[in-house]
Amino acid sequence: MATSTSLFSLAPLRLTHRRLLSPTLGTASRFQTLASKRAAAPTVSGPGGGAGSGLLSVLDRALTDEEEYRRARAQVQRKGVEAEGYAIEGISVGGHETCVTVPSLNVAFDIGRGPLFAVRQDHLFITHAHLDHICSITFSGETYEIRNDLVARPFQTHHTVPSQGYVIYSVRRKLKKQYAHLKGSQIVKLKQSGSEITDTILYPEVAFTGDTTSDFILDPRNADALRAKVLITEATFLDDQVDVDHAREHGHMHLSEIMEHSQWFRNEAIILTHFSNRYSLEDIRKAVSRLQPKLLSKVVALTEGFKSEYS
Ligand SMILES: [Zn+2]
Ligand SMILES: [Zn+2]
Repeated sequence: MATSTSLFSLAPLRLTHRRLLSPTLGTASRFQTLASKRAAAPTVSGPGGGAGSGLLSVLDRALTDEEEYRRARAQVQRKGVEAEGYAIEGISVGGHETCVTVPSLNVAFDIGRGPLFAVRQDHLFITHAHLDHICSITFSGETYEIRNDLVARPFQTHHTVPSQGYVIYSVRRKLKKQYAHLKGSQIVKLKQSGSEITDTILYPEVAFTGDTTSDFILDPRNADALRAKVLITEATFLDDQVDVDHAREHGHMHLSEIMEHSQWFRNEAIILTHFSNRYSLEDIRKAVSRLQPKLLSKVVALTEGFKSEYS
């Protein structure tokens, strides 16, 4: 499964090929996106004599942009958040970089630009092929074993390219109901006789959506994601400057949709990620504080990598 080309097939990958996660690769691909994005801007001069200098200034700006982002990122102390006993670390800035890890489960979701902290996890789950998450996808609908008491299953999300999220389940064995009345010694005897005395039960612990529209919330097959102890999802857009239609068009969620669908979230904790980099720390805090109290009490925003208006 883990071959050197596996970054381009599909996660889950075992990160035995850590050299694939070289920061150089991340920078190069990132640089390309920034450059092409800038190239579309109206300030760029057209073909002919001006094209050379136009392109140079585009590249220049892309480089400055990249440098600025790296500086901002370096300045932020990476603290992560704590939810339901899980330490969740990572960075998720819309269009720039997404990589979220749950070290106690030994998993990383998406790989962003290959940050060092992600490389320490043995299992990588990629949600979709955008450069800020990296890779292309062949879907696998299978249950993937992380440990003998931990499995992952993909679920359908809705983005501008094929995408999927993951639910990590703890695997527990429970005595079958029909044996519940038996004494310990009887159970031992049954077991020794070779009978299957337990049921295997999967408890959804942590779910990660990656980029998605709110449609994933309404799909009944995604029920486990919405009842996992911790849901890590996105809220790329937060305020009236970008409306729900725009968010949907770009395959993302608007915070107002999370409010609208709040009754479907059975999670104990919801970690919001992937805010657009148009927002400051203060914008994010302000927007999140407007959530209805019941939702607010379980929502945590992952704001690593965002700048404060006061710095
Ligand atoms: Zn993204
Ligand atoms: Zn995306």
